[in-house]
Amino acid sequence: MNFTCMSCKSRYPLESNKWKCECGGLLGLEYEKDVPDLSKTSLLRDHSIWKYIDALPFVKDDIWQEITLGEGDTPLIKIAENVYAKAEYYMPTLSFKDRGAVLLIAMAKKLGMDRVVADSSGNAGTAIAAYGARAGIQCDIFVPASTSSKKIKQIEAHGAVIHKIPGTREDTAKAAIAMVEKTNAFYASHIYNPVFWEGTKTYVYEVFEQMDGKMPDAFIIPVGNGTLLMGAYLAFKELMASGQIAEMPKILAVQAEACAPIVQAFVQGRNTVEPMENDGTVAEGIAIAAPARGTEILQAIRASDGDVIGVTEDRIIEARKELALKGMYVEITSAVNYAGYVQYVEKYPELKEQQVVLPLCGAGIKSD
Ligand SMILES: *Cc1c(COP(=O)(O)O)cnc(C)c1O
Ligand SMILES: [Zn+2]
Repeated sequence: MNFTCMSCKSRYPLESNKWKCECGGLLGLEYEKDVPDLSKTSLLRDHSIWKYIDALPFVKDDIWQEITLGEGDTPLIKIAENVYAKAEYYMPTLSFKDRGAVLLIAMAKKLGMDRVVADSSGNAGTAIAAYGARAGIQCDIFVPASTSSKKIKQIEAHGAVIHKIPGTREDTAKAAIAMVEKTNAFYASHIYNPVFWEGTKTYVYEVFEQMDGKMPDAFIIPVGNGTLLMGAYLAFKELMASGQIAEMPKILAVQAEACAPIVQAFVQGRNTVEPMENDGTVAEGIAIAAPARGTEILQAIRASDGDVIGVTEDRIIEARKELALKGMYVEITSAVNYAGYVQYVEKYPELKEQQVVLPLCGAGIKSD
């Protein structure tokens, strides 16, 4: 198993503890996997992501068994004709980040690390802290000082050392990277470490099983750093390559209009993302002004013949109320997805006749 540089193609073993190439390029992951027949895995009694072990960067009798909290198999709830919400707030730490975090921490443990550093707008940090606690790994979690106090309490409860960084989300990332470079700790980054997407891809595997072996026409996906989006795209490619789907579903990405660098690049037809000012949004979980994987995100949206739109603050707040009145209490950032669905139907009325899945990424009690 190797990291491979996406720019210069250099290879590094995972033991190298690299999070970026020497050329500055971002890393991908290369290993032997065997994508399972999902009509068979759907019958298994195991209801965690680990039933897909043959397509994960671990073997069956491996360290993950001591670390798993049973993450996976979240409900798919029909919320309207042709529209399904996948309730990721059923996860052990109440957000989909557990799918990737359990893999990152299991990998850190396997590599013999006793200390990891992560930066996050909250949910990834919480997930890393929980699995880190389970693995007996010391976690230093960097968050913007403005992060919801509920998320900060959740992180601290797991025994992680929390670093509240004033300024932007980018300042938080810089502080974390400075610590990684000073201490040579494992950088448990959901953005830089491609092991994370090997976990988030199981979101799509599960949807495919839950819809009886048919892909929905489109996936609504929120985008900040694109960790769910990159995982979904990886799953689409794997299922195409293994002959389980003939066509790629559309990625209909959503950002908060107040911080929408991907929308801007997409509309301008660019291949790279220009950093933006974050004008302030209630969607703290996706307020990423300078997404490191911007080029890959744009490429994935285009390859799926998808689209990306921005939603206003009013619409996000309205969507959260509406979801709660349908029985689903989500954190504010998660309401972006439902607001995005409503807006996409206005843009593409034919979408009403198509099957669409949107994620409920995090639980309502995470928001202040
Ligand atoms: C992480 C997260 C997202 C997606 O953000 P990315 O930065 O694109 O991974 C969306 N909603 C919530 C609640 C999240 O925690
Ligand atoms: Zn390189």
